Amino acid sequence: MEIFPVERIREDFPILKQHVYGKPLVYFDNGATTQKPVRVIETINRIHREQNASIHRSVNWMSDHMTQLYEDARKTIRAFIGAGKISEIIFTAGATASINAVAFSFGETFLEPGDEVLISTMEHHSNIVPWQLACERRGARLKVIPITDAGTIEMDAYRNLLGDKTRIVAVTHVSNTLGTINPVKEMIRLAHERDIPVLVDGAQAIQHTAVNMVDLDCDFYVFSGHKVYGPTGIGILYGKEQWLERLPPYQGGGDMIDRVTFEKTTFNELPFKFEAGTSNYIGAIGMAEAVAYISEIGMQAIHEYETGLRDYAAGLLSAFPGLSQYGTAPDKTAIFSFVLNNVHPFDTGMILDKFGIAVRTGTHCTMPLMNRFRIEGTVRASLCFYNTHQEIDRLMEGLQTVTDMLA
Ligand code: PLP
Repeated sequence: MEIFPVERIREDFPILKQHVYGKPLVYFDNGATTQKPVRVIETINRIHREQNASIHRSVNWMSDHMTQLYEDARKTIRAFIGAGKISEIIFTAGATASINAVAFSFGETFLEPGDEVLISTMEHHSNIVPWQLACERRGARLKVIPITDAGTIEMDAYRNLLGDKTRIVAVTHVSNTLGTINPVKEMIRLAHERDIPVLVDGAQAIQHTAVNMVDLDCDFYVFSGHKVYGPTGIGILYGKEQWLERLPPYQGGGDMIDRVTFEKTTFNELPFKFEAGTSNYIGAIGMAEAVAYISEIGMQAIHEYETGLRDYAAGLLSAFPGLSQYGTAPDKTAIFSFVLNNVHPFDTGMILDKFGIAVRTGTHCTMPLMNRFRIEGTVRASLCFYNTHQEIDRLMEGLQTVTDMLA
């Protein structure tokens, strides 16, 4: 096996060279947002400096050129996620915006009183609240798939919950708190046996493993640009054409229309029907650059390297006295949630920060999951391919200091 060139890759991320409180930065908060390689930063700068013009609207050269780059970005994303058609790729503001769009449009069209929406216990608030709102509007009910103590979906319970009233399943591909990789392909197959569509929240999966929409056969898939080494304020809603055709637009405005009169408006074709207003075209082009960058490194190589980091960190954390881990599924990404020796996660995080180690503490936008484990919060270290084994050692030293000081 080829050695993963992590030191060379780190050169692409200038921010990683920083010192925090005089210590070299260890950035373990990649689940919240990822850092950007130079070529993404430079692409965005170059457009602002040299080529900025609004897309899809004007006859001038720069606008035409920008439109071309924007539509090329769509093609790059289509190829990256293995979607069948370019019309199935919709640019949104992020994963949250994508889920809200589906929850609203699908809810208004297909949810009736007494219907059920099925989600899991480990969903991010972004894949809970939009469905709750839709259920409240339509008189439908939110049903929740339970999980095991290790943080895996209870598949028998899932099978039993899929019923005549289930209208849609919305489930995360990878848990942002536990790291669990859910068996989404099997979950989709089971739902489809009953003609139930499935939305997969890919916000924590797409940057760690290769995905293919045709193979997965999901009906909707969502993710955010800023978690795949691209800019903030941009994301993707993938939807099968047959669903997107049936759903009404979520927002009205420029670009999404065909003809407008005061009496009636007809809508543009896909994907533009769901892209109201001036799109974040520079964000879209920046995200495509990020996706091109990680594709060049190779999703398989990234996956293998990150699996090595995961195993190394898991071994050390499991052996650390007094440390309770949440999320011990065999199939998981390098996300670690833990509580150390009854020390409040916030205190652990504050001390680690003083050592230059950036983690996240709290509920990670998964309060119902915290209730499931009867805890108030955790420390979360979320790793990615520019992290190193030495940085994991730094984390362990930091945890030892926390223990010496507070436990
Ligand atoms: N879903 C999951 C699993 C997430 O981890 C996040 C963000 O942390 C989101 C959805 C929401 O992403 P965004 O805030 O970029 O819209």
